[in-house]
Parts: sequence; C-alpha cells; structure tokens
Amino acid sequence: MKKETFWDKKIETADRKILDSLKLKQLKRLVGYALRTVFYKSRLKAVGISSPRDIRSLKDLARIPFTTKDDLRECYPNGLLSVPMSRVVRIHTSSGTTGIPTVIHHTQKDLNSWTDLVARSISATGAGKQDIFQNMMTYGMFTGGLGLHYGAERVGMTVIPMGGGNTRRQIQIMRDFGTTVLHITPSYMLHLYSMLSECGATLKDFKLKKAYLGAEPYSEDTRSKIEKMWQIDAYNSYGLSEMNGPGVAFECVYKTGMHVWEDVYHVEIVDPKTGELLDDGLEGELVFTNLLREATPLLRYRTRDMAAILKGSCPCGRTHRRLSRITGRTDDMLIINGVNVYPSQIESVVMKMPEVGNNYQICLEKDGALDSLTVKIEISSRMFQGDLGLIDRLKERIKESLRASIVINPRVELHEPGSLPVFEGKAKRVVDNRIKI
Ligand code: ADP
Ligand code: ZN
Repeated sequence: MKKETFWDKKIETADRKILDSLKLKQLKRLVGYALRTVFYKSRLKAVGISSPRDIRSLKDLARIPFTTKDDLRECYPNGLLSVPMSRVVRIHTSSGTTGIPTVIHHTQKDLNSWTDLVARSISATGAGKQDIFQNMMTYGMFTGGLGLHYGAERVGMTVIPMGGGNTRRQIQIMRDFGTTVLHITPSYMLHLYSMLSECGATLKDFKLKKAYLGAEPYSEDTRSKIEKMWQIDAYNSYGLSEMNGPGVAFECVYKTGMHVWEDVYHVEIVDPKTGELLDDGLEGELVFTNLLREATPLLRYRTRDMAAILKGSCPCGRTHRRLSRITGRTDDMLIINGVNVYPSQIESVVMKMPEVGNNYQICLEKDGALDSLTVKIEISSRMFQGDLGLIDRLKERIKESLRASIVINPRVELHEPGSLPVFEGKAKRVVDNRIKI
C-alpha cells in the first residue's frame, strides 16, 4: 500500500470544470495586476485587453503574447513590479545558468501561496510531521533553498537548513539527526554516496527514506541508480524562479510524472520554433502563467524547458495533469558537426552502465574544421585494479551505445573516481571549448 497524503484534497482532486472556473477568476485578477506595469499595459492594449473585464474565458489567454527571459532581463531590476515596493517582502533571482539572472519580487501573499504549493508537493510524497528534512539546496537568492524550507515547515517537518556543500558535515548531520528526507540535486546525491566510505559511514548509519531531486535535468536511469544505491524513493521536483521556484510540479507516491498544480500554474506546451500550441502527449517548450501572482505578474512565460504533458490519469486521484521528465532546455541543445544533441541523451546512455561511477563530463573542442566530442566518465575503482582489457572493452561498449543514441562518434575517456569536477549546486556537465562565431 502506498502511503497517500493530501494537503488540500478538495482542490487537488477537483474536477476540470471547478478548476477552470477558479482559474478564470484568478486570471482576471492577474491581468488587473499586469495592467499596472508599463510593460504589460502596452502589450495587452495592443491585443484589445485594457481591463480584467476583457478576459471572458481561459481561451482569452491565447490572445496574449508570450513573455520571454529576454523581456525579463530588459525589465531588470524593477520594471515588472506591479505593487509599491513597500508591499514587497522578498526578492529572488534565478541562478543565472544562461545569463543575467531574472528578478522576481514577492508580496507576503505571493510567498504564502508558494509555501502552500510546496506543502502540497511534500504531502503528495507521503512525507509529513514525522520526518526530519535536510535541505541541501543553496539558500539565498536562488529559490531552491528557501522555497522548500518554508513548505517543509508548514507541513510540520523538522527542518535542517544545511544549504549546499560541506559534504562531510552533511553526512555527519544526516547520521546524528536521523534525517529521513533530503532535498538535493541529483548530481550532488551521487557525489554524496561516493563520499560515504571516506567518512566512515555505511547505509546502516542512516534513516533516509526519500529524496527530492531537482534543479537540473536528469534521466530515469539516474533516478533508478540513486534509488538503488541509497535504497530510498527519489521524487522528481520541478520549478523555476520565474514561477516562484520549486513546487511548480512534483511527483506523488506513484512516481508517474510530476503533477502540475493547475489551479495556480496554467501550463501550455508549445512548439519552440513556431510557438504553436501542442496537444497532450507531445513534447515541446513549457509555457507557464502563475495565476496567483501579485508583485511580479508574468503572462505566458516561455521557460525554454522541454517536456510533455502526460496523457491519462494517476492512481492517486489527483486531477492535476502530469509533466514528463524535463529532457533539457531549448538553449542547452548542442550542435555537433550539424547534429542536434541534448546532454540528457548522453546521460541516459552513461547512467545505464552498471560499471559507471557517479560523475561524467561532456567536452567539445575544435579539431580542424570539425567538432570533436569527448565524454569523460568516472568508473568504479575496482575496474582499474584487474585486467586492463576490461577497461578497453567497457570503453568500446560505451562508445557503441553513444554512437547508436546520438549518431556521433565520440571519444570516451575513463577516469578514476573523484577526478572530475564536483558540483554542490546545479552541475555544469558541458565544457564547450569550440570558438563561438
Ligand atoms: P536558471 O537555472 O535558469 O538560472 P532557476 O535557478 O530558476 O533558473 O532554475 C530553474 C531551472 O532549473 C528550470 O527552468 C529547469 O531548466 C531546471 N530544473 C529545475 N528542476 C528541474 C527538474 N526536476 N528537471 C530538470 N530540470 C530542472
Ligand atoms: Zn499522482
């Protein structure tokens, strides 16, 4: 029996009609806030919306142009603020993975609704008051730390606000306080495991049951690897600072994709090239509208994250539709000798191999006129002790599988554990040394 808990059962299981009428009410209010900003006032007027009354159905949202990351950057720092600064109680930014960070202002009401959605997400995994929660995401302007923190407190978990890094201390605290739930990036979760023996710890020293893994793309194979090595349940957690942060979509105990909290987050999937709306089941770029925003209203925000809305229902009874795994960002696609490759394709191949350790890196160089791809992979130290022929054969097998998946002939380098760079927050797996034109 899966342990099922709801935070707000009525809304989480509400039928579509109820959800839609609630959403319409909220959208009108949001447009009211957006019209207070110079940025949206002219944009909305241009499509015939000069008052919330001009929104008659949810379909009217489609008339509104998309908002992009560049729009947000142009509005830096306060151009999208729709309330007096005296109502703003906190400012967050994105981590700036792809350039200038984007800024989001929050009123107390904004923070309350975010906290509530995180509480909902945590409850959907069956966690609650009984749990000791160690938050290993970075605290500060980045939303991963504080976002989960307040939600976990609202649920009544015992929160240990560690933040990222300091692996030895993390392991000691996990052991001393009997941590049952972690919030962590998948890459750091793998690294943490590889540090156990150095810290004189074994799995028996811990009471760990669950981990919430997010902030960076990872494959289903990485999830399974983490679940097996730690003997826990790992849940996919998705969010972005422009939509508050974590708690936009989260897996329930059935782990069949991440429920998007649709009463608050209006979700659309569009063709990244044409902007055309795609049906459920088709992969495209995620576009979100946070319907409850006051301080920084964002209408139809293009996330650059690629995913699909999954068809069918979830056994948990929640009516909020589910997202597939995020396969990557539209802007992290690599073009290697004219072939499109997502780093996630490489990860998926690498993490399927049982001999492969916990870290890898994707390196691109120019080799004359051509691009050359080298995948550097840590393998278990046992492999270096025995027959060296084994290593050559493993290298060949990895090369073969990569070639089959990405249609490019990569170089493969196998390394000792601990020799590739470690990341305590979001991992930067790709090192692109090609000269950009
Ligand atoms: P950025 O990394 O763009 O500076 P944020 O710090 O707000 O901004 O991080 C949000 C981004 O992190 C998302 O847009 C997405 O690309 C990535 N992300 C978050 N959670 C996940 C997840 N579960 N799977 C894949 N990617 C994720
Ligand atoms: Zn579910």
